[in-house]
Amino acid sequence: MSNIPIRNISKVSRLFQPMTSRISTIKKSEVFSKSYEHLIKYGFIKQVNSGMYAYLPLALRVLNKLTTLVDNEMERIGAQKILLPALTSTHLWKQTDRYNNNKSELFILKDRSNKEYILSPTCEETICNLLSSSGIISSQILPLKLYQISSKWRDEMKPRHGFLRSREFLMKDLYTFDLSLNNALKTYEEVCEAYENIFKNIGLTFVKAVGDPGFIGGSVSHEYHYKSSIGEDVVCICSSCQYAVNKVMCNDTHCPKCKNTLVQEQAIEVGHTFLLNTKYTKPLNVKSRIVDTASPLVMGCYGLGLSRIFTMLAEILSTETELRWPKHLAPYTLSIIPPKKGSKEESANQYVDKVIEILDELNIDAILDDRSDLTIGNRLMHARVTGIPYVIIIGKATQKSPPLFEIHDINNSTQCDLSLDNMYSYFNDEKTSNIIESTKVSKAN
Ligand SMILES: [Zn+2]
Repeated sequence: MSNIPIRNISKVSRLFQPMTSRISTIKKSEVFSKSYEHLIKYGFIKQVNSGMYAYLPLALRVLNKLTTLVDNEMERIGAQKILLPALTSTHLWKQTDRYNNNKSELFILKDRSNKEYILSPTCEETICNLLSSSGIISSQILPLKLYQISSKWRDEMKPRHGFLRSREFLMKDLYTFDLSLNNALKTYEEVCEAYENIFKNIGLTFVKAVGDPGFIGGSVSHEYHYKSSIGEDVVCICSSCQYAVNKVMCNDTHCPKCKNTLVQEQAIEVGHTFLLNTKYTKPLNVKSRIVDTASPLVMGCYGLGLSRIFTMLAEILSTETELRWPKHLAPYTLSIIPPKKGSKEESANQYVDKVIEILDELNIDAILDDRSDLTIGNRLMHARVTGIPYVIIIGKATQKSPPLFEIHDINNSTQCDLSLDNMYSYFNDEKTSNIIESTKVSKAN
């Protein structure tokens, strides 16, 4: 055993991952899908109420990696992160005329003095009220870009597919404020570019479509979709110039740009951008001074469904029996499997610390499957169903000279035997090529 101090590695024996084969316990009202079944069966999420789920440790690791990716891109465009309260006073929603039309989908509650609140599904009113109560906004801080990542609520009539249509969900919402419509259009383009970077970094092909303003409203809007048979939106896509539009917004079967036929595809909407103009800033008095007059600011709002992206990834990438994640977003990048207790290879345990040391040096997010009473095959299966993209087996091949280690690349279904030295360069190369891969993915529009 080496005496080099190593960081405290995560161990599968200590992991809270309640696996279940009893999917029948899921409420019958909720429609099944591959991702939903896998996420519950393999201990990522747990239903606590109809349409409400707990994120367990493995799910939260995926979400945290996704959050970092989003935070980085928001920082790049100069957006500042905030956190608003979950409750919004209903009188604000009455001021913008949104209360009565949407009452059936809102969670409404009262405090001890009978004051009414909404569990926010979106926060245009809250942010506008926050700004107007801070007085006239100095034009020096414009464009102002504020965002948060927090739980949102919608009292869905028929929750389904887990986080695809849940009653509580995790959303990134960004609000931007500009002095003029022209400036606001520039900001809008800039945020759309940031969204495209986020989706390129996630690594799957997405579709940007002309959007349906729906209950948020506004003059310009775009939606970001991933094609999937469980998606609840239909987008009309031109295969020639990649123009796309939400079916709700389309009354033609031909592309307005190149006149080719539009093809309808089912899709999962994961992001939506809106140029709102002064729809909220005017009634809620969010103003800045232009020359001598105080004028309402031009607002944009931009949503990104993080729990939806999480579900979409599981749905699109998984096999019929096992979860799959993009390598850089998987809950753990790698599982180390030491020999079974009492087996002929047990002496190979001496290499465990050395392997951990190499992975540590490469900053690879690894977990040790220390359940040595289980066979190597059983533990390999655990890594596969969980969607851990790499596995190192410390087994039979270590008896060779030099000792070799079995490396499995699960997402690509390949495997090879490598010495410790070659293992270092293998993972070093994988890291480099993954970065190249993630910038190569093209967008649909
Ligand atoms: Zn076209």
